[in-house]
Amino acid sequence: MPKEIKCVVEECHFNENMICNADAIEVRSSGDRSVETSDGTACSTFKPQE
Ligand code: SF4
Repeated sequence: MPKEIKCVVEECHFNENMICNADAIEVRSSGDRSVETSDGTACSTFKPQE
């Protein structure tokens, strides 16, 4: 079964039909020091559309 990363960030270069096509992604805390929900995380592999 292929691995899929569903992502709704349509503005990202790697997004194709709500699936991430990057070879790998890195997710970090988004800077509030207290990550308690997914809102406190962010994809640092994001790249703007060209
Ligand atoms: S790199 Fe991150 S933001 Fe971009 S499509 Fe993949 S998961 Fe989404």
